[in-house]
Amino acid sequence: MTSVTIHGAAGEIGGNKILVEDKDTKIFLDFGLSFSKWGSYFTPYLQPRKWSYISDFTKLGILPDLEGLYRPDFENRLRESKTEPEYDGVVLSHPHLDHAGFLSYIRTEIPVHCSPGCKSILQALEETGSGFHEYTKIKEAFKIRDSKTDPTKKVREYKSIIPRQLNLFKPKFTIDDLTIHTFPVDHSVAGANSFVIETSEGAIVYTGDIRFHGRKANYSKLFVEKAAEFDPVVMMSEGTRIGDKTTFGELDLERKLYSLVSDISGLIIVNFPVRDTDRMKSFIAAAKSVDRKLVINMKQAYTLSLLEQCCGAEVPRLDEINIFIPRKGWGILNDDNYPDYVQMKDYQYWEAELINKSNSVTDEDIKENPTDYIFRCDFYELKFLFDVEPPEGSKYIRSVTEPVDEEMEIEKVKADNWLKLFNLYPYEQIHCSGHASGFEIKEMVDQISPKTLIPIHTETPKVFGDFHSNTVVKKLGGKFVLG
Ligand SMILES: [Zn+2]
Ligand SMILES: [Zn+2]
Repeated sequence: MTSVTIHGAAGEIGGNKILVEDKDTKIFLDFGLSFSKWGSYFTPYLQPRKWSYISDFTKLGILPDLEGLYRPDFENRLRESKTEPEYDGVVLSHPHLDHAGFLSYIRTEIPVHCSPGCKSILQALEETGSGFHEYTKIKEAFKIRDSKTDPTKKVREYKSIIPRQLNLFKPKFTIDDLTIHTFPVDHSVAGANSFVIETSEGAIVYTGDIRFHGRKANYSKLFVEKAAEFDPVVMMSEGTRIGDKTTFGELDLERKLYSLVSDISGLIIVNFPVRDTDRMKSFIAAAKSVDRKLVINMKQAYTLSLLEQCCGAEVPRLDEINIFIPRKGWGILNDDNYPDYVQMKDYQYWEAELINKSNSVTDEDIKENPTDYIFRCDFYELKFLFDVEPPEGSKYIRSVTEPVDEEMEIEKVKADNWLKLFNLYPYEQIHCSGHASGFEIKEMVDQISPKTLIPIHTETPKVFGDFHSNTVVKKLGGKFVLG
């Protein structure tokens, strides 16, 4: 029997966890975090309990209740974990958390397959991110041993680090009975792929997240052409913007930026998605057009340093930009009263590497020469405006999506307060989506022409029925049998 089961992204945007079963082979396409489900229960102050992750998440419908899938160190707190894994692989479409964020809970014996760009971004997140990120290796939790002083008692043991088996994509590879064809596609993050999976009952197409109006639109078009040749039985298509007709693209945005930045006489302050290297390229180009340089933060610079080793011209070069080194901790960076090693105590190992680079800049540099820079400053960095002191004539360009939920609305109100404080309000808004428009999705589905269409990663899956007569809408946990 061959089937697909939608364990995430059914009637919601993100949280993709698609189980593909063919005879004895079981793989997951993506294993992402559902922000909407997570946000229904948790807040920054109401956080899950680490010892009870698997139990709580399965009860809340955040993770599927499946055995032989999760790390024994966590699962054993809920039930006795199977000795052997029951799944043969996880194939990641791209490194956005709504597709890869729950990989941290998967047992390490299950091989993970991803693109080099995806691996680099997950590695950067693991090293620089706050929160629970165990993608390339895990820190074994709740490890115990017998007490040396009282053998009837147990004590905590040092945690072991266990690496994951991460296999980098080839254009075509197999996992037992399945053959997976990988196609790099256009999306708002480096290393995104769509797949065709050949099963014993025909081909399955999985789009992951895709668009046709970014810098790699031709890749997406090529995927569609190739996918159609497989005459697929099933297609699982993303539909984030199925009801949205706007086709404003990344190159339109870049052109608009040129005119926006040309008449700003002070500091140009911008916000764009942290890992969107396509958008970063737009701002680098806009900066060059007015003889400025884009300043990004240390996390972005560290991610770029990993990406430039594997992704070539797909991503910006680290030497094209400046890196902002903020004062942290005691706030004594570049204070000659303190020796270097004391100043460095405020920084982590990966940050220390960046501080000494010739293209690093501080708030002093930006304050002294505001017209030399385009300063990226996201919501969490607005406090740095106290240090860079934007002069008169400065402008803020917001290049992120409009709020889509209550939490984002609240964040925007706070951001606006900061901008008003520094005379940066009103600001300019300019953004283009990482997802295909309704028109682009329809064209893709028409061209691939699957026998059955299963909409995922959308809040309005029924709309797909308007243009594909055999649209099957699945609820969470719903299974579709191919034959
Ligand atoms: Zn997504
Ligand atoms: Zn995505």
